[in-house]
Amino acid sequence: MNIIESNLSFGSLSKRGITNKIILHHPECNGWTIERLHDLHKNQFKWSGIGYHFYVRKGGSIYRGRPEWSIGAHCPGQNAVSISVCLEGNYMVDNMPEEQFNAAMELVIYLKNKYGITEIGGHGDYYSTDCPGVNFPLEKFKGNLKNNKLVFNYREWIKKVQRELNIQFGSGLNEDGYYGPNTQKATVLVKKGARGNLTKLIQEKLINIGYSVGKWGADGAFGQGTYDAVLRLQTDKYIGADGIVGPNTWRILFTS
Ligand SMILES: [Zn+2]
Repeated sequence: MNIIESNLSFGSLSKRGITNKIILHHPECNGWTIERLHDLHKNQFKWSGIGYHFYVRKGGSIYRGRPEWSIGAHCPGQNAVSISVCLEGNYMVDNMPEEQFNAAMELVIYLKNKYGITEIGGHGDYYSTDCPGVNFPLEKFKGNLKNNKLVFNYREWIKKVQRELNIQFGSGLNEDGYYGPNTQKATVLVKKGARGNLTKLIQEKLINIGYSVGKWGADGAFGQGTYDAVLRLQTDKYIGADGIVGPNTWRILFTS
């Protein structure tokens, strides 16, 4: 998961002492950048800056808004105990793109694990408002959070691995989302210290099959948490346990 730092400047902020829930919102508009929302909240509403902690665009990019440690401005009565995630769009009428849902879900699971949160709601669950909108897939968020599962598209994952191998190593693979001998042969060693999209894809798969990579989630950095996860997988599958993602480990990842 990649959180884009937004470099927004804020007025005075207060530290949040408790984090016991995640509250979801929509801005009820399309095409707005985080800077534009920040400007609205800061210069028109005269708040300290954007009220939301995170903003997820329709294409799936995740932006940091108000610092995570601070009290937000998004839901009266809940600001001191919650983290807010706003999803671009007007969900009174729009339907949510899959990319946006998946990115927001990944963020929600990351926050859940980081803070031990078990409660998620829409703005309207806590306040008299129709935010985040009648078309917002709130129940899907709630169900997935409860089951602690990322929405994971197996074929899409293979496609992304193939694309990455093509981009980085000129593997010339068909990006068809099917695992076969050519894809297996094109795999490369990925080990501790690696950084980038291949590592991120490995992490996403590890998480999906039940091997936590540590509190940072799928961040694209192959650190101790990922190393430990690979070791556990290798031990469970009786392949050489060296913490390195080589041909055998790739085979397990592709077929799990
Ligand atoms: Zn709201």
